[in-house]
Amino acid sequence: MASSNKSYQTKGTVLIIGAGGVGSVVAHKCAMNKDVFKKIHLASRSIAKPNAIKKDIKKRWGVNIETHTVDADFAKKVAALIKKVKPEVVINVALPYQDLAIMDACLETKVNYIDTANYEPKDEAHFEYSWQWAYKKQYEKAGIMAILGAGFDPGVTNAYCAYMLKKYFDTVKYVDILDANAGSHDKGFATNFNPEINLREVTQEVKHYDNGEWVKTPPVMNEGSVHFTFDYPVAGPKDSYLLFHEEMESLAKNLPGLKRMRFWMTFGQNYLTHLRVMESIGISRIDPIDFQGKKIVPMEFLKALLPDPASLATNYSGKTVIGCIVTGEKDGKEFTKYIYNVCDHAETFKEVGSQAISYTAGVPPVIAAMMLMTGKWSGKGVFNVEELDPEPFLDTLAQNGLPYEVVDHEPLPAKI
Ligand code: NDP
Repeated sequence: MASSNKSYQTKGTVLIIGAGGVGSVVAHKCAMNKDVFKKIHLASRSIAKPNAIKKDIKKRWGVNIETHTVDADFAKKVAALIKKVKPEVVINVALPYQDLAIMDACLETKVNYIDTANYEPKDEAHFEYSWQWAYKKQYEKAGIMAILGAGFDPGVTNAYCAYMLKKYFDTVKYVDILDANAGSHDKGFATNFNPEINLREVTQEVKHYDNGEWVKTPPVMNEGSVHFTFDYPVAGPKDSYLLFHEEMESLAKNLPGLKRMRFWMTFGQNYLTHLRVMESIGISRIDPIDFQGKKIVPMEFLKALLPDPASLATNYSGKTVIGCIVTGEKDGKEFTKYIYNVCDHAETFKEVGSQAISYTAGVPPVIAAMMLMTGKWSGKGVFNVEELDPEPFLDTLAQNGLPYEVVDHEPLPAKI
């Protein structure tokens, strides 16, 4: 879709697309920052979820937001909504399948764009940035900014790496990103964000970056998967599995001199057993099958059976701990730092009615929008978070519920 000559932006207006677990946090946090987000629009595929969020926002913060329906699979429909509400920025927290359609619509209307997950085609469990990086020249020409992957991981983890480089090191050599959910809820099995996207991510082949190459290892639930016990601050020792995560793709490109990068996520045995069973009986397949004369995609059926991640919030307790262990050099001396955030499920529920995974994913894109709307981040084209100044972002994030700690740490061994 080509861009028109006209820009449909109004300063201080935001359009949020997606009203799930993450979208709810985004809408609440925008309402809590009413001085920047003067007009808030929330749109999703159907109106029930946006309207429920609108009601809660009015009750908690006394702020009126406007709600809409849009099918964001279609750029034309998103563009029509943008022309109606005229936002300065669109925050896309629908699903990765909609990224390109929403980017197209932003291009057509010359409106800035932010998301938290990179594009993924529906019929293939594969995600990478190439599709979205391809918009760089068009966004430059249109004079607008796209900020990709501005959730927690990707997002804050990218900013953590940029911050390490800015504050402590001349070059960064090794990065280990560690993501622990040490929370417990009252469901037998549930995913913490959209089940379909989550299961596609965790069942794939694992890759990590080593000396310019992507080294493959087995998926987390298979024999031979790589894992070790890491002693997380506050949460304590947890079994952590090597996983491929999208921020590694952009960080490998944007961190000069990087030699090795790995991503680790905690999984419990109960979760892994469920993954194995789902895979062995074929219920997590994403190709259509015939069922009683109809085509159904087993994964979509499974999603309908699993708990809505937003519904976990009520009885969730415990913490999330997400951060980066970074080894680098300064003036020829090598040392290691650990930068991380601790977030509490019960506290985020008290604040905005959401669990900590939705919260850690939903606050950062709001702060990214604030950076853009206040001119602290500027530029034309398509950016990953590590390409932008991490300091005002991390400071504002800390003031909005997600503080960080930096401590000295031992490097993780090269071989685990
Ligand atoms: P949910 O499934 O809870 O919510 C998705 C929302 O998008 C729902 O309101 C859904 O509507 C809506 N939606 C889906 N398809 C369309 C469409 N075609 N048009 C308009 N709206 C649509 O997901 P989450 O809130 O858990 O996750 C949202 C995003 O956040 C995902 O992309 C996920 O990958 C990302 N994420 C990023 C993280 C990070 O740290 N970077 C961490 C966690 C999540 P309906 O309810 O009608 O289906």
